Amino acid sequence: MTDGGAVDLELDRAHSARMYDYYLGGTTNFPADREGAARAMGAFPSILATARINRRFMHRSVRFLARSGMDQFLDIGTGIPTSPNLHEVAQAEVPHARVVYTDNDPIVLAHARALLHSHPAGRTAYVHADVREPKALLAADEIRTTLDLTRPVALSLNALLHFVTDDHGAHDLVEELKSALPSGSTLAIAHVTPEFDPEGIARLTEAYRASGTPGQARTREEITRFFDGWDLLDPGVIASHRWLPDPGDGRDGATDKEAACYVGVARKP
Ligand code: SAH
Repeated sequence: MTDGGAVDLELDRAHSARMYDYYLGGTTNFPADREGAARAMGAFPSILATARINRRFMHRSVRFLARSGMDQFLDIGTGIPTSPNLHEVAQAEVPHARVVYTDNDPIVLAHARALLHSHPAGRTAYVHADVREPKALLAADEIRTTLDLTRPVALSLNALLHFVTDDHGAHDLVEELKSALPSGSTLAIAHVTPEFDPEGIARLTEAYRASGTPGQARTREEITRFFDGWDLLDPGVIASHRWLPDPGDGRDGATDKEAACYVGVARKP
């Protein structure tokens, strides 16, 4: 699809990656995305805070995992590059860390160069792939040549699985990804839940659907099930801003309702 540069970015319709970029204050978004974002903000005004809180969970969880010895990362549903990106956080702790990013949105592919400025001691790669086809994703050359799948890998599925509905077998595909990784691997998930604001999240889900992106918020029990068989690390499945907050994180007064996501990190026994 990259041949000859003929990538269709579908600028006439909103894309979740570009809406998320808009929430984070980025510039890789177009009028249809900003219209979609305005609709989402009308439905759920805290969405800007939700995105920032989610992004900070990625920073904290990656730093935590790198400090605990993880040096290989596989991030699915990466989004448009937003500094600091995952490899910058990981390589600040472990310069030789290797990171593979994947997303199925051509806009992310178009900007992937920003994800490839690895620390010289480490390595980064980008794969254009769809998480709903885990076998094809895992077979990508970039994964096989960048990561050693016989050693632990830190898999992250942040703010991704709520775009994969049960019709697409969300739990089964996560099991398939988990089964490809060796003991000691970790799984980090951030996922929108209706539990802190059922009406707001119902409106938000509808706003996304109306913009052409069906999604599914899940309960704590449904999100916890993604970790089945792996050992959840403290503090378990919890609102995103409450997961091992940095000193000072509480000062912005974030609420569960704004966080709107459950997050967790687990390790394969
Ligand atoms: N993980 C980042 C970005 C989240 S935005 C963060 O938490 O900050 C969600 C991303 O998931 C978007 O970039 C979107 O393109 C991607 N995505 C949605 N459905 C996908 C699918 N089926 N396969 C791969 N990526 C997908």
